[in-house]
Amino acid sequence: MDRRDFFSGALAGAMLAGAPAAAQTDVAGDTQSVTIERAAEGRPHEGKVFALVTPHLDDGPIFAGGTIAKMLREGYTGYFIRTSNDEKDSAGLSLGATVLANEKDTALFFKTMGLKGSFDLSYRNHRMDDVARTELRGRLIFLFRLLKVNTVLSYDPWGHYEENPDHYVTAQAVEAACWMAGGSLDFPEHRAAGIQPHSVSEKYYFARGPQLVNRVVDISGVVEQKRRAILSCRTMIEHMVVDLNSSLRARNQRIPALEGPDAPAEFVKAAFEERDAAIGRRHNLPAAEEFHYIGPDHSLDAYITKSAVTL
Ligand SMILES: [Zn+2]
Repeated sequence: MDRRDFFSGALAGAMLAGAPAAAQTDVAGDTQSVTIERAAEGRPHEGKVFALVTPHLDDGPIFAGGTIAKMLREGYTGYFIRTSNDEKDSAGLSLGATVLANEKDTALFFKTMGLKGSFDLSYRNHRMDDVARTELRGRLIFLFRLLKVNTVLSYDPWGHYEENPDHYVTAQAVEAACWMAGGSLDFPEHRAAGIQPHSVSEKYYFARGPQLVNRVVDISGVVEQKRRAILSCRTMIEHMVVDLNSSLRARNQRIPALEGPDAPAEFVKAAFEERDAAIGRRHNLPAAEEFHYIGPDHSLDAYITKSAVTL
């Protein structure tokens, strides 16, 4: 996400503010209930693996940083797959220096959150609509199988009014890779290398614009972890602050709190913590993140319970 993304996201958030808290109507006209996911006791997700898959370093921390912190606290092992090289997101650095700065910030995010691994696929920032979807999908299928990913967090491939090609290209590849990774005839050479088919069964999709929301995660217990996650994106947050300050100067204004060493923290509070609080108010929570959640397929559970016999 870059500065322009943030302002677009803020606008989208305002558009969504009037959405009903209890339910939304999907494109087929069916009413979908909203599940509130609260903090769980202990480590119920021990043994499960999630992958955050986004083109840009700051996408995950901004839209799902609380949910990521909650998942890790509740036992998940986490990986980060960054599909672009983030070469366009800095204030005043060259392209090459921007790649390096964001690479270092990615390492800081990885360490701050306590993730187990991260992978940079390094496609050129803002040019991902020129990437062969089959190549990106194939790389994700390999990683989903290798890491035995149960759950992904990514952009909603069906989110509306998304202007950044990196976002929707990555999202579409993620969605297809999740089920295709389970197919034994897709990339059969993986099996020869000892890597077995493995499909991803849970998805948490976030969006900058309107989307179908059916899962709200209470992040009130991990607000500090989310703040640290966002602040680890040092180069990108600095870019947002510099751009906001220059737009204020153009209007002959300034915000003193956005000019000192505490400017990044002030900006994160104003831009993102206020937004999370606003989402929370819609659901009677102190702070929350919204998702379209797709879980495991239970359509045959009743039939299996009725019909299955022990081997
Ligand atoms: Zn982004």
